[in-house]
Amino acid sequence: MTSALTIRHHDVVVVGGGAAGIAAAHAAASNGADTLLIDAGPMLGGELLSGIPIDGCLNTRGEWIVGGFLDGLLEECKALDGFVGAFFDWRTIWVVCCDPETMKLAVARQLDKAGTKILLNSFVDEVVTDGGRVKAISVLNRNGRTLISAGTFLDCSGDGDLAVGAGAEFLSGDGKGAYQPVTMVFRMAGVDSDRLMQFAEEEEENLALRENPWIKETREECLRALIKQGYPKLFLKADGPLMAKSIEAGELYPTALIGVTPVSMRRREVALNTTRVANVDATDTRALSATMPQLIDQVWNCQSFMRKRVPGFENAAFAGIAPRIGIRETRRIVGEETLDGDDVLAAVKRTDGIAKGGHHVDIHGGGTDQVRKPIRDGGSYDIPLGCLLPKGIENVAVAGRCLSADRQAHGSARVMGTCMAMGQAIGTAAAIASDGNDPHPVLGEVPLSRLRERLLDQGAILDGTH
Ligand SMILES: Cc1cc2nc3c(=O)[nH]c(=O)nc-3n(C[C@H](O)[C@H](O)[C@H](O)COP(=O)(O)OP(=O)(O)OC[C@H]3O[C@@H](n4cnc5c(N)ncnc54)[C@H](O)[C@@H]3O)c2cc1C
Repeated sequence: MTSALTIRHHDVVVVGGGAAGIAAAHAAASNGADTLLIDAGPMLGGELLSGIPIDGCLNTRGEWIVGGFLDGLLEECKALDGFVGAFFDWRTIWVVCCDPETMKLAVARQLDKAGTKILLNSFVDEVVTDGGRVKAISVLNRNGRTLISAGTFLDCSGDGDLAVGAGAEFLSGDGKGAYQPVTMVFRMAGVDSDRLMQFAEEEEENLALRENPWIKETREECLRALIKQGYPKLFLKADGPLMAKSIEAGELYPTALIGVTPVSMRRREVALNTTRVANVDATDTRALSATMPQLIDQVWNCQSFMRKRVPGFENAAFAGIAPRIGIRETRRIVGEETLDGDDVLAAVKRTDGIAKGGHHVDIHGGGTDQVRKPIRDGGSYDIPLGCLLPKGIENVAVAGRCLSADRQAHGSARVMGTCMAMGQAIGTAAAIASDGNDPHPVLGEVPLSRLRERLLDQGAILDGTH
C-alpha cells in the first residue's frame, strides 16, 4: 500500500451501492453529472443480491408506485432471464422477485450504461467539512488513501456514515438499545413447488395470509389465489401449529416467520428469510461480527427443518447464503423534515412528494415478535425531499434506510423499492444542482418543480395512485 495521498474531484459522489445508492448514482450520471459510486464491499447491489423480493414497488392494491430506475433494472433482469415475476403474497405485499445471481450482472450493466464511475473495496472513513458543507471525504483502499472532493455528496451507506461524519444528528433503533434483528438470508434449490403449494392448501393454518383489511376476499379465496399464481411463495407463521410445535420442542429457533420467495423457477430455487439476532447495534463492527456463528447455526437448523417438516423441500439442497449479514436498522439521520409513521399508515399524499412508499409498517423484534401494520386502503404515501436532507448540511442528501423518519415510518420506507425511488430522487437533484456551474451547490435550493418534472420525465411515479 502506498502512503501518498491522491486527490480527485467529481460533480457527485455517492457512498454506498445498495438499492438506494445504485439508483442515486445511475440517476446522477444519466442526468449528465460526473458521478463516482463508492462501496466498501466487492460487489454492488446490497440486499438485492441476497434473494429477498423487492418490496414497495407496488402498493397492496397492485398499483406500481415506483418507476424510472427500477423499470430499467427489471428490464435488464428480464433480458438476462433473471426476472421471476411481480405478484401478490395475498398477505399484504406485492413482491417483485429476481434471481440474485443475475441481479449482480444487471446492476453492473445498468450503472455502466449510465456512465457511472465505480470504486469498490473502498471505505469512506473521514469527512472534511467547512461550515455547513462537506468539502471532501477520505477513502481508504489498496491504492492507499484518496481525498475525494465533490459538489454534492449522497449518503446511501445505510448507516448514514457520511452524514454522521459531517456532524448530522441521528437517532438509532428505538433509542433504548432495541434494534430490528440482523439476518442471514439463505437459499435452497430443487424445491418441488407443486408439492409445497399443495401442503399450503392442506395445512393452511400454518400460513400468514390476508393481513390488510383492504383485502375483501376470504382467507380461503386468498389461499386459492396464492396457489393459482404458480409460484413457491408463502410465509410460515410462528403461531401456526408446525412452527409453534417445532419452536416449543427446540427443533427450530424462535422466529416470527419463515418467508419463502422464488429466486429461480428454472433452478427450482427459493430464498428463505427467517434467521435473526435482535438488538445488535450493527454500526458496532465487533458486535455485528459476533452474530455470525449464531446466524450460521440458524441457517443450518432451518434448512434441516424445511427438509424434514415441509413437503416440497424433502429433496431440496442448500444452495448458498447471502453475500453478507443483512442489516435492517441502525441510524436514522435527522433531516429538514421527518417522515411520520401516522402519515405512512394513513397513506398521506403531498404535492411536494419526490418518492412514494407503500410497504406496511414492518418492525421485526426478537424471537417470535414482529409488528406488522397495514397501510390504509392498501394505498401509498409520499416522501418529501426534506426527509432526505440532513439538517444543517447543504450539499449532502441521504437515501435508503438512513432516511429521516420516525421508527414506525422507517419500518415501512426501508424496503428496496422505496430505497430506489428515494435514490433516484436525490441523484437527480444532485445532477440538477451541478447543472448550473455553481461551485457550491445547495441541494435544498433545487427548484422542486424542476426536480419533479425531471423525475416524471424519467419514469418516476409521483402522482395518481391510492
Ligand atoms: C434480512 C432482511 C430482509 C429484508 N427483507 C426485505 C424484503 O423482503 N424486501 C425489501 O424490499 N426489503 C427488505 N429488507 C430491507 C432492505 O433490504 C434494506 O433496508 C435495503 O436494502 C437498504 O438499502 P440501502 O441502499 O439503504 O442500504 P444497504 O443495502 O445497506 O447498502 C449500503 C451500502 O453502503 C456500503 N457502505 C456502508 N458504509 C460505507 C462506508 N463507510 N464506505 C463505503 N461504503 C459503505 C455498504 O457496503 C453497502 O453496500 C430486508 C432487510 C434485511 C436485512
